[in-house]
Amino acid sequence: MTGAEPDDPRSAELGANLAAVRARIEAACAAAGRPVQEVTLVVVTKTWPADDIRRLAGLAVTDVGENRDQEAAPKHAACADLGLRWHFIGQLQTNKAGHVARYADVVHSVDRPRLVDALSRGALAAGRQLRALVQVALDPDPGQPGTLGPRGGAHPDDVLALADTVAGAPGLELGGVMAVAPVGEDPAPAFARLAEMAAAVRTRHPGATDVSAGMSGDLEAAVACGATHLRVGTAVLGSRPRLG
Ligand SMILES: *Cc1c(COP(=O)(O)O)cnc(C)c1O
Repeated sequence: MTGAEPDDPRSAELGANLAAVRARIEAACAAAGRPVQEVTLVVVTKTWPADDIRRLAGLAVTDVGENRDQEAAPKHAACADLGLRWHFIGQLQTNKAGHVARYADVVHSVDRPRLVDALSRGALAAGRQLRALVQVALDPDPGQPGTLGPRGGAHPDDVLALADTVAGAPGLELGGVMAVAPVGEDPAPAFARLAEMAAAVRTRHPGATDVSAGMSGDLEAAVACGATHLRVGTAVLGSRPRLG
């Protein structure tokens, strides 16, 4: 398929969903007094086939997100002609980092020093430069410094040191910070804490301007708190098929 046939029902469905999501983003930016150009929509295509990625490219999507290397690598290979930016957004094992470094343009889920080393080595081996975001755990009770949050993410007290480590790693450039709002809580205070951390990181690293926050259910709250990257899956592609 070429992906942009106007009479393909799946393309029509994706197009309608995208229009609705883009309208939500415009309304949220207007409410926050922010230019819409500040916000990048990353469409999270995990569990959906490469043909859907091709359809999305035909609908002017420029950025896609995946969370598992085993799934992302073949989809990237099948879509290499589309000129998309690939965002890796999932928890990442150190032994997979070198492989992810071959195709990801941005890794949003950097949450520990060993992963920084592995991504740096992988980027150098692949002759690539990766943008890396420090994932922050936003749980109200984040546990002890040095531990990760339940869905990954560095303890807030570890974020500045980890940002410094990324900034000093060859093959990596520090993009900024990323977070997932805690399940079942009002996302606004969590995103406000993320905004404070993003500002603290930017004070030391002025190029680290990315704030990756907001998904299908909470993108308005994320835009209100300064998000520059929204990771939206369900609202564009529909409910994910259940995995095994
Ligand atoms: C799946 C996923 C998303 C997208 O979530 P939706 O609710 O489907 O929009 C965003 N961020 C991360 C880290 C994810 O794993």
